[in-house]
Order: sequence, then structure tokens, then C-alpha cells
Amino acid sequence: MLAEIITIGDEILIGQTLDTNSAWLGEHLNTYGVEVIQISSINDKKESIVNALKAAETRADIILITGGLGPTKDDITKKVLADYFGAQLIPNHGALENIKDIFHRRGREVLQINVDQALVPDNCEVILNTKGTAPGMYFEENDKIYVSMPGVPYEMKAMMEQVVFRKLNAKGDNYTIVHDTITVVGVPESHLSVAIESVEDNLPPHVKLAYLPHLNLVRLRLSAKSIALSPAQLKSDIDTAFAAIKSIIGNVWFDGDRNLPEIVGEMLIENRRTIGTIESCSGGYVAHSLTAIAGSSAYYKGSLLTYAYETKVAIADIDQNMLNIYGAVSEEVCEAMAKNARKKLDVDYCISTTGIAGPGGGTDEKPVGLVFIGLAKPDGSIEVKRCEFHGTRLQIIERTAYTALDMVRRALDSSRQGTRA
Ligand code: AMP
Ligand code: MG
Repeated sequence: MLAEIITIGDEILIGQTLDTNSAWLGEHLNTYGVEVIQISSINDKKESIVNALKAAETRADIILITGGLGPTKDDITKKVLADYFGAQLIPNHGALENIKDIFHRRGREVLQINVDQALVPDNCEVILNTKGTAPGMYFEENDKIYVSMPGVPYEMKAMMEQVVFRKLNAKGDNYTIVHDTITVVGVPESHLSVAIESVEDNLPPHVKLAYLPHLNLVRLRLSAKSIALSPAQLKSDIDTAFAAIKSIIGNVWFDGDRNLPEIVGEMLIENRRTIGTIESCSGGYVAHSLTAIAGSSAYYKGSLLTYAYETKVAIADIDQNMLNIYGAVSEEVCEAMAKNARKKLDVDYCISTTGIAGPGGGTDEKPVGLVFIGLAKPDGSIEVKRCEFHGTRLQIIERTAYTALDMVRRALDSSRQGTRA
């Protein structure tokens, strides 16, 4: 089946809200054998909504709509859909109970505009909103399926997961689509593609390979799609191709769709090593990246956040003279931070960061974006990297964290042996 996604909302068109709903829907529909052929984003105007519906009907079997279901006057999707199908708006008992329940729990009065949220077109099947007030709506008209859901991402996702995917699955004339992804680290996309060209050229026709590079990671996704073949057969075709790829590239891959903190975490566990951080310019971002991974307590021990000169002296025992002579943003201070914090935190590896995140505070000698990143290692040696990053304050902080984690990955990699099972 073919699907089109229509996201409705002025906020999307002026860039105030990023359309993450389409990305999520596209990804998940695919795994249910539904192919998304177009994504359209439109404003909250009747004419735009009607035009988008008419156009979508010419090419898709399923039309998934998000947005425009709020209680306020700017949200008109429900009314437009009712007009479009020549339907009447009628109260829905379940939706009203849900709304009352939510307001009572919050200790708030239910206003008429809240009651009106429980009105739905009389030709739809209501999808209960378990995360909010606006009911979802499922229509089957003219051999097409229309689903209208709130714009709020977690409300939309709950409706898809609790109701809509199951309904689409039951339609039955879908392709079987199987995806699997591995993440390759530290190999440029172009090098990788040349290395595995022989595998790519000999894939069965129903198996496709996609490269999804991000910084120094490349996600390799194999997708197998067929009406005739079973999921088990498709999975086996993918496994065969991945086995061939892995045997060529060696020990640089991780199963699944991974990010760098996850990869570093896995390597720390494999190597039975611990890590800590001492941060200045990145303000805890490295610590946050590491601790955002479930299970990080197995290897992450803690952090010193030494932003000011006096804090570096008081908490990390940085020599005041050293700070006076070299300044906080210097190789010397960065090295001393990593060394002292490794000892204080009693860890195998310790990352240190010190730099100028900007936008102010730069000089000719020490421009905005100058960052020193240190890594104290189990043998007591300390590596310090001098980086000049560009971009906004937050981008510089993110780059700092990413580079720091990649230094850890490289250090662990050099101590890694053998190939993965
Ligand atoms: P609405 O259903 O129009 O009341 O949407 C409510 C909120 O959901 C908006 O204020 C946005 O913050 C968010 N939202 C709407 N559309 C999208 C979208 N396509 N992707 C992500 N968030 C969205
Ligand atoms: Mg809206």
C-alpha cells in the first residue's frame, strides 16, 4: 500500500516546529510494509487542506494527517474533514469522558471549547487519545483510508502504536519489508562504499543497501522488500549480505543503529574500563552524552565541572601559576585537568575539556572555537588535542563532546583485539 503524510500547521511552515512527525511515520510505516510516496506540509487554511487531500487521493491508498486538532480557533482540520466528507460533527462519549478525566485530574474546570473537542465527524471511527484531549479519527471513504491525528508527537505516536498500525496490518495486501542496520565507525562513506562494492553489486534484486553517514559514523541499512517471500527468507538474505560486508570491513562495526556514546559505552564494558569527565567549556555536555545511555553506571563514575578559574584551583587542584601563565584555555591546563581528575574520580579514562565556546571572548591568539580536549589513559599517559571548531556556541559544545568521545573510542580501539562474533 502507498501512503502520503500531510502535516498541518503554520508553525511548521515558518520553521518554528520541525516536522518530526513525518520522519517518525515514514520510518515506522515502512516496517509495516507501507511505502510513503509523498510528505506534504501545509498551513492551517481550509483551501490548503482540501487541495492537499485531493492531490493525495490521486496517488496514495492511505492518507495520514497530523496537526490542527487543538481546541483553539487556529486549528480547523476536524471541521474541514467533516465538510470534505459531507459529514456532521457529533459528540463522542468516549472522547468526552477522556477529556473530563484529564481536566479533573489536573483540578481544572472543563470549558465549552474542551467539550467541543469531543465532537467528531459522524463517518469516522474515533481513535482514543491516551496521552491528551484531541481524539484521533479514522475514515474509510472512496476506497481510501484517512487518519487524522494530533500534531503533538507523543499523542500521534501512541495512536499509531495502539491502533493504526494494527488496522493497516490487517488490510493484508502489504509488502513484507525487513530492514536491518549496522553502524560502521571511523571509515569514510566513500572508502566504505568502494570496499564493499562487490557485495553491493551482487545483492539479490529485492535487497537494497543505503548509506546514512553522520559525523564519522556510517549507518548501513539493508532493506529487503517482497510480496512473495516470507519475512524469515528476507531476514536471511539480509543476514547473508551483512555477513559478507562484516568479513570485508573487519572489526569496525556495531549491530544496530548506534550513536557514538552508545558505541563508546559498549567498548568500555567490553574492555572492563571506567571513565570520568572534567569539563569547562562543554559545561557537562560530555557527561550528559555518556549518562544519556542506559546502563552507563557500569562504566561512568562522575564528573568535575570546573568552569571558573577559582573552581579549577579549588576542585581540580590546578596550579594558580599555571593558569596565570598559560590561561585556562591551554594545552597545559587541559592536561593537568585530565590528570588530576582521573586520580580524584579514580577512573581508567578521564576526559577534560577547556575552550572558548563564544560568541564573545575570543582573541587573535585564542579565537572562538579554540578547544583543548584531554584524555588521561589507564597507563597514566595523557593525550591532548587542539581543535578549532566553527559554528554557534551549542555547535562548538557538541563538537567538543563528539571529538572527546571519539578520542576515547580510538584509544579503546587500539586495545581491542579479534573480530566480533
Ligand atoms: P495541533 O494538533 O495542531 O494542536 O499541534 C500541537 C503541537 O504539536 C504544535 O504546537 C507543535 O508543537 C506540534 N506539532 C504539530 N505538527 C508537528 C509535526 N509535524 N512534527 C512535530 N511536531 C508537531
Ligand atoms: Mg495547530
